[in-house]
Amino acid sequence: MSLRSTWVDLIPGPLVRYFARPYVAGDSIESALEVAADRFRQNGSLATLDLLGEDVTTAEQVTRNVDIYKELIERIPAQPGIGEAATRASVSLKPSAFTAGSRDDARRPLVEIVRHAREFAVPLTIDMEDRNWTDFTLDLSCDLFEQGFDVGTVVQTRLQRTRDDLERLPAGMRVRLVIGIYPEPAEIAITSKVEMKRRMVDYAARLLERGIFVEFATHDEATLATFLREVAPAAPDRCEIQMLLGVPRFDFLRGLAEGRFGVTVGFRRYVPFAVGWEDATAYLRRRMVENPGMSLLVLRNLWQRR
Ligand SMILES: Cc1cc2nc3c(=O)[nH]c(=O)nc-3n(C[C@H](O)[C@H](O)[C@H](O)COP(=O)(O)OP(=O)(O)OC[C@H]3O[C@@H](n4cnc5c(N)ncnc54)[C@H](O)[C@@H]3O)c2cc1C
Repeated sequence: MSLRSTWVDLIPGPLVRYFARPYVAGDSIESALEVAADRFRQNGSLATLDLLGEDVTTAEQVTRNVDIYKELIERIPAQPGIGEAATRASVSLKPSAFTAGSRDDARRPLVEIVRHAREFAVPLTIDMEDRNWTDFTLDLSCDLFEQGFDVGTVVQTRLQRTRDDLERLPAGMRVRLVIGIYPEPAEIAITSKVEMKRRMVDYAARLLERGIFVEFATHDEATLATFLREVAPAAPDRCEIQMLLGVPRFDFLRGLAEGRFGVTVGFRRYVPFAVGWEDATAYLRRRMVENPGMSLLVLRNLWQRR
């Protein structure tokens, strides 16, 4: 039985959409910009906007995704708050959304978007997908950064190779540190979450030493506190915390704003949006297959909102 034909496919679309609401900023560029601007107004959250469109099988879908990103990039600078130069929203994108064939086919559309982003001074991060994309993503993002584009990348602490990968990242680059969402085989990845999180803290320290801007992306409050107390003080202006839209961390964020951790760093929400609910529903189904516990997390989030 393939992963695509699991119990997740049996859940009706409207129910998936209901669960998706805390996580997805709507079904248009407009709604994504509104949600991001609203978070900025409410509590000064920065944003990185991401189109949900990974399941690409045709050249037309690639062209559509390129066009959506270009329009998004053009509109960001005009938005109140999230368009200002100092607090401008960035965009995040997944290479698999830009190829219907080989990985290398994704290069040309990605470069086209990166050039567009430079024209509108919008920072861009290339997300990290599963192990098949690691070399492609690191090679391309480092190459573009070294050519002078404001391109950042992501490294996953679950992969054994990451310790070495850190050493090739150029100083000044933005690097998001995550544990990694894709289950990987034991030959190339660690399985202990405790160890993945310990490595997040260690790797953040190493990246700061190397002059890199660290985007520390986790919802684990103990790991965040260790990072803020033990690592960030070395270079707080090169640290940022990132969380996914829809994951409530009210006490932690209040503490961060009040200086409870003894250091001030930026905070950014990852704001996924779709153009049409079909993509959002497909995205949610994939995440639920990868991580069945997510359904429970969504329920808990809804509960915490009350
Ligand atoms: C901004 C951002 C960008 C990311 N980009 C990438 C990427 O490019 N590539 C990649 O492989 N992974 C990416 N991830 C996912 C990341 O790798 C982890 O899978 C994810 O963040 C969950 O791990 P955690 O560190 O929060 O720890 P966990 O131990 O999984 O979670 C810590 C706590 O937060 C809760 N929690 C975690 N996730 C959620 C959720 N979605 N909703 C509600 N509660 C939750 C858990 O229940 C637990 O209590 C990104 C994550 C963030 C926050």
